[in-house]
Amino acid sequence: MAHALDELAREARAEVEPAPGVSREPVASRQEQKESPLYQGRVWVYPKAVRGTFRRVKWAALAALLAIYWLLPWVRWDRGPGAPDQAVMIDMAGRRGYWFGIEIWPQEVYFLTGLLIMAAFGLFLATALFGRLWCGFACPQTVWTDLYMWVERRIEGDRAARIRLDKSRWNAAKVRKKLAKHGAWLAIALATGGAWILYFGNAPDVLVNVVTGQASLTAYFFIGLFTTTTYVLAGVAREQVCTYMCPWPRIQGALFDQDTLAVTYERWRGEPRGPVRKGQSFEERGDCIDCKQCVAVCPTGIDIRDGLQLECIGCALCVDACNQVMDRIGRPRNLIAYDSARNVQARAQGETPRVRPLRARTAIYVAALAIVGGLMTYGLMTRSQTDLTIQRDRSALFITLADGSVRNTYTVKVHNKTFDPQLYTLDIEGLPAAAETWVVGRSPEPLGDIRLAAEADAVAEYTLLVAVPRQELASASLDLEFAVTSEFGETVTHDTVFRGPER
Ligand code: SF4
Ligand code: SF4
Repeated sequence: MAHALDELAREARAEVEPAPGVSREPVASRQEQKESPLYQGRVWVYPKAVRGTFRRVKWAALAALLAIYWLLPWVRWDRGPGAPDQAVMIDMAGRRGYWFGIEIWPQEVYFLTGLLIMAAFGLFLATALFGRLWCGFACPQTVWTDLYMWVERRIEGDRAARIRLDKSRWNAAKVRKKLAKHGAWLAIALATGGAWILYFGNAPDVLVNVVTGQASLTAYFFIGLFTTTTYVLAGVAREQVCTYMCPWPRIQGALFDQDTLAVTYERWRGEPRGPVRKGQSFEERGDCIDCKQCVAVCPTGIDIRDGLQLECIGCALCVDACNQVMDRIGRPRNLIAYDSARNVQARAQGETPRVRPLRARTAIYVAALAIVGGLMTYGLMTRSQTDLTIQRDRSALFITLADGSVRNTYTVKVHNKTFDPQLYTLDIEGLPAAAETWVVGRSPEPLGDIRLAAEADAVAEYTLLVAVPRQELASASLDLEFAVTSEFGETVTHDTVFRGPER
């Protein structure tokens, strides 16, 4: 253990204590900063690399999420001839969205609303159970910042080397490293902005058009916009986004309760803290040796020993750092741990901690998820392949023809959502038997013989004239039900009225 303590002391000097001429600022905790005068400039955070379980989980999440983002536009999905074969796409020109086998039209935007509601309740549930799981592992700001920090470490070295480099005078080596780092950051930012527009068109075509300069100005604008925002947010702003720009940390405080798991310093076990000397026993003192490794690895530069803080994104890297320290000094792990407030209290009193995932708030979130998810699934399973819209011509309430009959005009829009052309049969309920019907440009046809063609995945529009002998009009207004039946037997209806003169 003595050897381990020597090593830790050396590391603490190298990583935490300032090198000659280097300010202490980078290791100052937020609490220390709060005690400064009213205004203080930004203190750069130089997170140290760490190994451990949570770091591995974060790498896996980062790899999976970036792979999904960059590869998804290249996944193909066969929708039949004439239809786009990109699995996930927002077709702005065609005004619809594709998600594998699901196609969403603008009038079905409620599915998007349902998805957003489900995402919100999913986030509420994850937060109530696991604290800032989203912020620490899956938020794009965290994922891209992690990637940028990895690049930074590869080029400029770990924490101590980066602090030294930033404090050193400018010379060729420093310029070379800074250029390499910012060049790599810009390349990642460009790949990020470039990948974004692949979701708004057929990815191979979009890529060729962008590279050969044939893409639209809008495409280049959005590539520029996302390149800039990625570079600034992940490279420059970093933890400032989480602390000052993002509203989520402020909201999620309301979602926490006594049983929410959060990254927590087990104060009851760690205090009184202090450096430990060779051979010193841990009797009558806490397990925290005040090595500040947990502060050194923190991407937001805080000291978790100060308690739960808004700046803590729940990444759990301080858990890994402290576990390494505990291993080296031969003390039990999890001085900093994913734990709930209730369990910290239970442990402090020597009681057995227990996990309580089923609580009133989690049950409500699960129920809300199940209800919205069920409604969405039912809506998707039962939604028709056809939409019918009828608009009665309002420019004239009705027209009286030379033979005394009364005519109304209707615009019939049949929306064929299938990927095959369809021939629909039109019928109208509520008309007297003597009524005459005809599509503009055709001869009068009896109901049941009127066919309306619609191209695959398109809306067909027809003007329909309906004439009723005046003596057949029982009232000034007849309730009608228009119905179209597809070749595969699906019938959709739309209610409207037929207007005539007052009797
Ligand atoms: S909590 Fe752990 S890592 Fe942090 S100062 Fe104490 S012993 Fe070191
Ligand atoms: S205190 Fe720990 S969990 Fe919170 S942001 Fe810092 S390293 Fe991550």
